[in-house]
Amino acid sequence: MKVVTRFAPSPTGFMHIGGIRTALFAWLIARKTNGTFILRIEDTDKAREVAGSLEHIQESLQWLGLDWDYGPDKKNPFGSAIQSQRLDTYVKAAHELIAKGHAYPDPYTEAEVEAFRKKAEEERRPFLYRNHRPEKIETWDGKKPLRFRVPEIKRYKWNDAVRGELEAGEEALDDFILIKGDGYPTYNFAHIIDDLHMGVTHVFRADEFIASTPKFLSLYDALGIPYPVFVTLPPILGADGKKKLGKRDGAKDILEYRTEGYLPAGIVNFLALIGWNPGGEKEIFSQEELVQVFSIDQIQTHGGILNEEKLKWFNREHILKLPETEFIQYAKKFLSSDTCAALETKGVLEKLVPIMHERIQVFKDLTEMDSAGEWLYFAETPNVEVVKLIPKNADATGTASRLTEALTRLQAVQEGSWTAETVKNAVWEYAEAEGRGNVLWPLRFALSGKEKSPDPFTIAGIIGKDETEKRINRAIDSLS
Ligand code: GLU
Repeated sequence: MKVVTRFAPSPTGFMHIGGIRTALFAWLIARKTNGTFILRIEDTDKAREVAGSLEHIQESLQWLGLDWDYGPDKKNPFGSAIQSQRLDTYVKAAHELIAKGHAYPDPYTEAEVEAFRKKAEEERRPFLYRNHRPEKIETWDGKKPLRFRVPEIKRYKWNDAVRGELEAGEEALDDFILIKGDGYPTYNFAHIIDDLHMGVTHVFRADEFIASTPKFLSLYDALGIPYPVFVTLPPILGADGKKKLGKRDGAKDILEYRTEGYLPAGIVNFLALIGWNPGGEKEIFSQEELVQVFSIDQIQTHGGILNEEKLKWFNREHILKLPETEFIQYAKKFLSSDTCAALETKGVLEKLVPIMHERIQVFKDLTEMDSAGEWLYFAETPNVEVVKLIPKNADATGTASRLTEALTRLQAVQEGSWTAETVKNAVWEYAEAEGRGNVLWPLRFALSGKEKSPDPFTIAGIIGKDETEKRINRAIDSLS
């Protein structure tokens, strides 16, 4: 049997990590089994629709490399993948249900329904539509809501690939609406008809749908179709570990992570491990590796936490794996154009890759350091505040003479063998003898003009012998 999974978001605003995790799991299983992954847009609640969501959903999935075989932008064997363009299909299925006696138009006014509800409340029993089925069934004019007529009131037991055996009593069944007064189907109806027509074998979705599953099962039964495999994903909890992550509770637009310089590989790796446990020690997985090893059996029942620090850690691990050319492409996007141009002109951008690698978790860190003047001094001689050259417990004369001695030692290093290491070897012994901070602080400050920066050897190695000597000379002059 070919596996067919789908991701079925509603276009009601931005995608967040929760939705993407559902998409990822469904995608992984489809790819692992050489199956099919469908992107379906569930836009039957017109009141909740937010303009631009469709594009946003597609862009988010594309960015993360979750490609779909069928979807809103493709020619599909089953027709459109957008529910509002499939209304005929639902109406046809509705008529089949009417013909079998499994659906009826809801004859009641809102006031009548309200009265039923009140009565049930007074009698302390749950309000169920099925207790108020009309005796005489009208023909459906397509304007009244159409209700399902549950064929058999019974206890349902079913299997969930993650949760195991589940069951619910008769109170979980009711005559729910199939098609609303506005002509659009409900989620409860449309998704089942679509899953059928699209050949979906595995339904991956969030745990909030468990409570409605008996209703779905009664509809599958009425339609005489087999159940798909239900794969219920554990919730993703916010940082406090209690509340489920939601748009209102700080979940952010997935594309914001792109803006901040997260890598798709970092996000995908992190998300795969929220609610899936591969066993063993390995934590860093590429997307290809995940496709190989992912399995439904290892999906967890308990929720996982969205820990942003952990996400950054994963991101950093994947940044470290980037080939130099790709790293530079990213860096160029996150550095200001001035800094970028200056570093490139001086030919130091490439040399900075290992240092940038070491210092960032997300590419936006480069931008922040750039604004704080952290990168430009590798290309341009910085202005140096004289007082800050002088370490605590030292004076200007002493500092100038130590810098002079360091300079002499550095001048002895051959241009051709000038590296961070040879620079270090040249001054290390002297620095140890004088008290490291007394030599290395002014040296580093002379080179960078910054209170925080990589060590002076690293900087000197990158800016080269001439520029190093020039900067030290300037510092000595300014001290006198
Ligand atoms: N449209 C539903 C949602 O956005 C999808 C649920 C499902 O995958 O069946 O939550």
